[in-house]
Amino acid sequence: MSDLRELYQELILDHTKRPRNFGALDAPTCQARGINPLCGDQLTLYLDVKDGVVQDVRFNGNGCAISTASASLMTEAIKGKTAEQVSALFQRFQQVLTSPADREVDVADLGKLAALAGVREFPLRVKCASLAWHTMRSALEGSQETVSTE
Ligand code: ZN
Repeated sequence: MSDLRELYQELILDHTKRPRNFGALDAPTCQARGINPLCGDQLTLYLDVKDGVVQDVRFNGNGCAISTASASLMTEAIKGKTAEQVSALFQRFQQVLTSPADREVDVADLGKLAALAGVREFPLRVKCASLAWHTMRSALEGSQETVSTE
């Protein structure tokens, strides 16, 4: 178990140092901005959605290690998925993040996102980890409002 924890920490560190899909898209079909006032995280998400499938996704902004790693991992996880699959994944991820820290959770279906499951032990960090996801949902819904986790 501690080996797994170490692996997860390395994965998070790697995505914090070298965020994947960092930047902007030239012609996104939708985009949204999200802020987490509690921590000061802010990011903008750019999506290219065609035929209901996420073709490409980028993000940029400034955030703490957890929010950056989460956004990076999310972009990898949602690329190539349909809006429905993305929304189901978000629900699962949110479920894990908000489950009690003293109880075992099944993260087998989450892939690399499982690395962030440990965040649930730090309630203040949950919003850092879910910011990119809330922002992504808002972008897919075509909302023009800035998303705030508050
Ligand atoms: Zn944060």
